Amino acid sequence: MSELRLYNTLSRTRERFEPLDPAQVGVYSCGPTVYSHQHLGNMRAYVFADLLKRTLRWFGWEVRHVINITDVGHLTDDADEGEDKMEVAARRSGESAWDVAERWTAIFKRDLERLRVLEPDVWCRATDHIDEQIEMIRRLEARGFTYVTADGVYFDVSKDPGYGELARLRLDEQAPGERIEHADVKRNRADFALWKLSPADGAQRQMEWDSPWGRGFPGWHIECSAMSTRYLGEQFDIHTGGVDHIPVHHTNEIAQSENALEVRPWVRFWMHGGWLMFNDEKMSKSRGSVRTLDDLIADGVDPGAFRFFLLGAHYRQQMSFTDEALQGARTAHARLLRRAAELRASEDSRGAEHVEGYRERFREALADDLNAPRALAVVWEVVRSGELGDVQKHELLSDLDEVLGLGLADAELPEGESDARIDGLVRERDEARAARDFARADALRDQLQAEGIVLEDSPDGTRWRRG
Ligand SMILES: [Zn+2]
Repeated sequence: MSELRLYNTLSRTRERFEPLDPAQVGVYSCGPTVYSHQHLGNMRAYVFADLLKRTLRWFGWEVRHVINITDVGHLTDDADEGEDKMEVAARRSGESAWDVAERWTAIFKRDLERLRVLEPDVWCRATDHIDEQIEMIRRLEARGFTYVTADGVYFDVSKDPGYGELARLRLDEQAPGERIEHADVKRNRADFALWKLSPADGAQRQMEWDSPWGRGFPGWHIECSAMSTRYLGEQFDIHTGGVDHIPVHHTNEIAQSENALEVRPWVRFWMHGGWLMFNDEKMSKSRGSVRTLDDLIADGVDPGAFRFFLLGAHYRQQMSFTDEALQGARTAHARLLRRAAELRASEDSRGAEHVEGYRERFREALADDLNAPRALAVVWEVVRSGELGDVQKHELLSDLDEVLGLGLADAELPEGESDARIDGLVRERDEARAARDFARADALRDQLQAEGIVLEDSPDGTRWRRG
């Protein structure tokens, strides 16, 4: 049996995966900041995390999957400047920041469901875990990693010799001319906020809490460190996110956690999904090149076809979203679902002895750092196989679909194309032939042919398939 190998950003190599606790794999996926729509590029990260989770399960492990909801502390500028995205959105829409969070969280969860992303075992919101975040900052403070400025509590990266390892950052190699944010308060360019104080000018924030350092709110990075520790323990197996998380967010999560918890590595495997490009640019709200699942649905696209489209590229590969590529995926997806639906009508159970070979090839594809395109190729081999009867094909596809999540097990023919109706016409033709009413039999055959149904007469009756 092939063992699972996963690409670990930490080592820049594929490593054999074994969980810390053989009974359960802990997986944490950075969740969305719920101030607006998640665009298609954002959703790719969750389809990737879902593929990972389903694969781990298929390989026989129990998985505990945590996704967080960032509902406070994510600033419009990653360098601890700018405003909290939640408060900006609230001001713009006239709702409270809490209502904005509630609304976009619900929309995000609905989109995951549409994409057949399995519900995580734990959803956790940053605003529900303020105490855990304060506790982690206190631990860092007690160990000498922090300093306090007029605007908050900062992590001093010069105190952490391992800082930046994930991203291969060298602190002494900064790009010339790079702007030093908060040059007046930060000791080092890469220092980051753990706790931000509410503005001193009396402007009140909607979301703020008391802390040992004053009234304010947590930084974005500390949320993930505190919540993953709360739900997965002080060391866990896999942390996922997008490649854009590597240089700042995940780098800072590691610095906080490893120094507060005194454990290294805090997370064994760091896995990052590639970007979805749109007109040769990263799909991003700031560039205005955003498309959402709602946009696709409005264009008549089945969300399952978008999932199928995403599985057509390896998760680490940068992928281009074009109407042409999407159209190709839609056609193939529809054809696959139709074939899966047709298989259910048949009782041909030949070829049980060949099933394991297909399963093993599918397994090898996944074991190779979740190679979904190769896994999909095996699915097509199953569909086209001459050695497997339809019953074996359907059982096998249902099994493989535990990983792919395309709905192959319960695929149904579009309305008006029920098997029962065609079965009835085929039976009627058989009866006409038996009664030597050849005119009637030919008329029925012509009618079926006109609908694209191919008949195969055999000694045990007539079989049909769509041509
Ligand atoms: Zn995170």
